[in-house]
Amino acid sequence: MSEILVLVEHVDGEVKKVTLELLTLAKSLGSPSAVWAGPGLSDAATAKLAEYGADKVYNASAQEIVDYVVAPKAELLAQLVSSAAPAAVLVAATAEGKEIAGRLAVKTDSGVITDAVGLGDGFVADQSIFGGGVNVKSKVAKGTPIVAVRPNSTAPVAAAGTGSVEEVAVALSEAARAAKVVDRVKQEKGARPELTEAAIVVSGGRGVGSAENFSVIEGLADALGAAVGASRAATDAGWYPHQFQVGQTGKTVSPQLYVAAGISGAIQHRAGMQTAKTIVAINKDPEAPIFELADYGVVGDLHQVVPQLTEEVNKRK
Ligand SMILES: Cc1cc2nc3c(=O)[nH]c(=O)nc-3n(C[C@H](O)[C@H](O)[C@H](O)COP(=O)(O)OP(=O)(O)OC[C@H]3O[C@@H](n4cnc5c(N)ncnc54)[C@H](O)[C@@H]3O)c2cc1C
Repeated sequence: MSEILVLVEHVDGEVKKVTLELLTLAKSLGSPSAVWAGPGLSDAATAKLAEYGADKVYNASAQEIVDYVVAPKAELLAQLVSSAAPAAVLVAATAEGKEIAGRLAVKTDSGVITDAVGLGDGFVADQSIFGGGVNVKSKVAKGTPIVAVRPNSTAPVAAAGTGSVEEVAVALSEAARAAKVVDRVKQEKGARPELTEAAIVVSGGRGVGSAENFSVIEGLADALGAAVGASRAATDAGWYPHQFQVGQTGKTVSPQLYVAAGISGAIQHRAGMQTAKTIVAINKDPEAPIFELADYGVVGDLHQVVPQLTEEVNKRK
């Protein structure tokens, strides 16, 4: 079966959920080989990768790979593309993943697809383009298909693979050492899931009314085990930190469920959330454009609707 490389996203030795999703996609199309870049591959991480289908785990454990910004990972993958001749390479469509994909495409003289939200036979990707306004199917026509897939595009499904580890030595070029990482500061991790990875996102907009009122949005998010998002109107007003902004100039999310409360549904906001599987809108204006997009809509004051919803969710726990 054709080998498909999957670049592993890992933090503190833990495999991130998006990697399990990519392995699941790869398994449906061939034989997944996980590529671990940098130190820290443990038996537990190998077992996790194997549990979700990795037949092979390439372990490029050199510290150097993570000492420089992005480029070494592209060189590592280029080396593996040359030695293993895989049928495709999958990376997560994160900011870093997309840069790696682009660099790898140049190095291997291959086509690249970013922001895929699905991948089928023949590596035909579903893509959401023009700010989410158009859905297309695309296929790489040259070289090795390199596809950056958005988190939450598929549900991870356990399907045992062999998980045999193969050590990989990488000879980094001078060019790959051009930008060195000089410090790493750990972001305080809250109890909520990471916004771009969360299966459920509850977002608030100008309709929330104030920073204090965001506790209503947080309450529902916590009841659902969701991440909190915000429109640009809310972040620009200083009601919620900018890192939680969803949209064209913020984060792109593709969760199973997206709840938009007090958000009108401007095109720039839609660009960051309209590939969500199910969209629920709560807005007091029945004419709000968000209702054109929503699978379920509630016309009402969010300050009444959201607390009731939170209470109902909590009752069912
Ligand atoms: C270049 C550019 C990039 C941009 N990038 C982004 C981006 O990344 N993300 C983004 O979000 N925006 C972005 N914007 C801004 C975007 O155009 C909108 O201005 C913004 O999304 C509006 O946010 P909003 O829906 O919260 O506010 P509004 O459009 O003001 O909508 C507020 C909504 O809340 C409803 N409401 C009010 N009170 C209540 C209540 N009590 N209960 C229920 N509903 C209520 C109203 O009916 C209204 O529909 C960008 C704009 C530009 C020009």
